[in-house]
Amino acid sequence: MTRLALDGLLKSYGDTLAVRDVSLDIAPGEVVCLLGPSGCGKSTTLRIAAGVERQSGGRVLIDGDVVSDAERHEPPEKRSIGLMFQDFALFPHLRVLDNVAFGLTGHNRGERMRIAGEYLDRVDMADHAEKYPHELSGGEQQRVALARALAPKPRVMLMDEPFSGLDNRLRDEVRDAALSVLKQEEAAVLLVTHDPEEALRMADRIALMRDGKIEQIGAPYHIYNNPKDRAAAAFFSDLNVIHGVVRSRQTDTPFGLFLTPGLVDDADVEIIVRPQHLRIDLDEGQRPESSARTGVAAPGTVQRARFMGSESLIEVTMDHDGSVLRATVPGVFTPATGERVWLSLKRESCHLFPCAAQSKVRSPFVHEDGTPP
Ligand code: ADP
Repeated sequence: MTRLALDGLLKSYGDTLAVRDVSLDIAPGEVVCLLGPSGCGKSTTLRIAAGVERQSGGRVLIDGDVVSDAERHEPPEKRSIGLMFQDFALFPHLRVLDNVAFGLTGHNRGERMRIAGEYLDRVDMADHAEKYPHELSGGEQQRVALARALAPKPRVMLMDEPFSGLDNRLRDEVRDAALSVLKQEEAAVLLVTHDPEEALRMADRIALMRDGKIEQIGAPYHIYNNPKDRAAAAFFSDLNVIHGVVRSRQTDTPFGLFLTPGLVDDADVEIIVRPQHLRIDLDEGQRPESSARTGVAAPGTVQRARFMGSESLIEVTMDHDGSVLRATVPGVFTPATGERVWLSLKRESCHLFPCAAQSKVRSPFVHEDGTPP
């Protein structure tokens, strides 16, 4: 069942095509995050879904009914949507309870107050009902804004960077509270963010946007582990890039051989590996098995090692080409600058892509002994 459907949305501003053929279905109770760099069209897509912006092409449907297309355009207040932005602007002259009751039409006053109280309770703010917004912290105000958006029981919640005004510690707390209330309410949620951690934490599905288009969509685990290209991988973490050239359907690297049967000779390839998927050993002989899972260890020299709290970051200058690779390992591991180390790759976590303009290969990884990863 689809609650919110965006169907082939287009939006141009003069010569700028801000949204290019965006289609997306969101089920009741599902949270979909639009994730992408600034200017890629996330907010425009959200504003079109809300009805505060009119698309140049395509349709918006709620519960299967067209609310906007070339002929018709229902205004936001007719769409059963809740809106939440970073700048959530509670009414300063109204008590918290009245702020939440404000959008509740079609009820008598007593009923409005009862519903508002219920939603304040849901976001753990019932004790603050009589206060004014300026008497609350940023996180508390955000909870009230969430209660206000949800109290009219919208079928669709549209949220644009709603937590970005909060400091780190508060943000986690408010995000978790928001997620649990949103899930109970069964609204379809479209949440815009540029923060990959927020998307991973909140989303049932992440839609990666670039240049006005959805480049890839899927569950967080899937998107993180199966990026469609280098840029999609780079949304979520630093990347190490190891270059190779195809010879006889194999790509030879200092970390061992990768079988690349779909690529022609002389094709340039990039092997992408996240810092946490590099393994560091202080001694080449520590892994005598030189296993098929990790391939060959390549030597290098520690350039810098830093303790980052829950993990350590080690930058290593590689012997084979002088490139610097970055590895993160859990806990405290800070070898001295100049120390010799051996790096190997967790092969099942590597991604191999032909360089630009060359055809793409899916699942090219096979270990040297021919077994799949
Ligand atoms: P994001 O939310 O991903 O940062 P936006 O949807 O705000 O991106 O913007 C997408 C593109 O559309 C940008 O190039 C932006 O400059 C342009 N844009 C957005 N709103 C307007 C507008 N009202 N007038 C002209 N250009 C706009």
